[in-house]
Amino acid sequence: MFRRPSITFRTMAFVAIVCLGLLAIDGWNSWQSRTVQLRQMNVAASNLARAMAQQANDTLKAADSALVGIVERVEHDGTGPAAVERLRKVLGAQVDEFPQLDGLHIYDQDGNWVANSRRTPPQNLNNASREYFIFHRTNEDRGPHIGIPVKSRTSGELLVPVSRRINHADGSFAGVALATIDIDFFMKFYGSLDIGEGGAVALVLDSGTMMTRRPFVAEMVGRDMRDTGLFRAYAAQGGAGAAFIKSAQDGTMRLNSFRRLEDYPLFVSAALSKDETLAGWWQETLWHTAGVMVLALVVGFVGWRLVKQFELQIKTEDELRHARDALETLNKTLNTLAMEDGLTGLANRRQFDVTLDNEFGRAMRNASTLALIMMDVDCFKQYNDIYGHSAGDECLQTIGRTIARVAGRRPGDLAARYGGEELAVLLPNTDVAGAVVLAERIRSAVRELKIVHAGTEDGFVTLSAGVDALQPLPGAAQPKELIRAADQALYAAKAGGRNRVCAAMRTVPA
Ligand code: GH3
Ligand code: MG
Ligand code: MG
Repeated sequence: MFRRPSITFRTMAFVAIVCLGLLAIDGWNSWQSRTVQLRQMNVAASNLARAMAQQANDTLKAADSALVGIVERVEHDGTGPAAVERLRKVLGAQVDEFPQLDGLHIYDQDGNWVANSRRTPPQNLNNASREYFIFHRTNEDRGPHIGIPVKSRTSGELLVPVSRRINHADGSFAGVALATIDIDFFMKFYGSLDIGEGGAVALVLDSGTMMTRRPFVAEMVGRDMRDTGLFRAYAAQGGAGAAFIKSAQDGTMRLNSFRRLEDYPLFVSAALSKDETLAGWWQETLWHTAGVMVLALVVGFVGWRLVKQFELQIKTEDELRHARDALETLNKTLNTLAMEDGLTGLANRRQFDVTLDNEFGRAMRNASTLALIMMDVDCFKQYNDIYGHSAGDECLQTIGRTIARVAGRRPGDLAARYGGEELAVLLPNTDVAGAVVLAERIRSAVRELKIVHAGTEDGFVTLSAGVDALQPLPGAAQPKELIRAADQALYAAKAGGRNRVCAAMRTVPA
């Protein structure tokens, strides 16, 4: 069966829902804002990668363009002394024009130095062991080759070699034209990028060799990257993409955005630290959450006070109701006690007097007769003397019950204990004859109880009764008159030998 929940429960539920709602809304908001932050991080990293790819591509293109011209010139003019002298000037002019170029060099088919952009000839005259030289000697491809970074044998700086093959007229290997780019040129640009404290950028060959990175670590240059998460993500996603990767070096989780260069087999990667990106968000969220928590606590506290208030009110109302009920019961009891005789349970003298007055008035208005039976237990003093006072009480109780049983047939009749062992029955709308019949019935009923009484003639408890009835007239008869007459009749019954009923002698019969 469904019972409506209590006001306390409903209030508590309401407060709980409000608090949880506040927390849920704040949580959802925070999550949304986090998503936005990460999306912006993605966009920023992607833009960085795009800029880096563009810069690297342009840089290499400039060097490569110079190489194309030089290769064409060498293949056409050959490497005679005059041609070499002219070539040296061209190389110097090219290096002056492009700041990213560290130098331009030409080697013959055996790796011997032919010419370079510097005014002084290099110390190392043979470069046949260099990776790019071996590559071109064994590879007929005429495109540009980006080699792994080398340490300059003249300056000791790290250089990125860009080279092209020079052919003889018959297509056989004639040597290598080489442009070197100072790695610092990339590093200056990377240094200007805003990647925060935890960010990182890298330039990597498609083959998996690290060219350079920021933060710069010398040992990392030239390292094989094929086994890293970054390279695997790049290989899996192709030209451009992004991935969250936990750094193997410092354990930082970063969003890596990578992009392949347009014209050269390299890719760049820009990585932003996730923690760093979300640091501001975290701070904001902590403030929010703390604020909402305080709010929820306040709401919860107020709700709790409200609930306590309700409970108190309900308790007070309950107590009041109880007190009222108790008072009503007490009132009823007191009323009954005030109207009832304690020993016999019949009406007491007070109720008898009040009822007599009322019935007298009513009989007067209705022009009806009112009858009264007055009874007195015979030789009761003796009964007490013989059997004791408490036996006398018991006897009175039994007589009381008998009278109530015999006389209590009509609702208007009232049986009362008039005083001591004197009893009375008030009978509205009853004449003397009727009252005598009832009195006689009571008398005989008491006699039939056969309560042994050694002090009477026939040996049992009996009672005598006097009866009177009258029709009250305004200003004439009084209630006292009815009592007096019934009493006289009772006296006559006693005088006549007891255990009998006598009716009052009247001049005007009722
Ligand atoms: P009779 O009426 O026949 O003339 O003789 P009686 O002995 O009854 O005389 P009376 O009416 O004068 O005596 C009344 C006695 O009833 C006095 C008292 O001891 C006894 N009595 C009155 N009230 C009580 C009561 O409540 N309990 C008991 N046990 N006795 C009562
Ligand atoms: Mg008496
Ligand atoms: Mg008596």
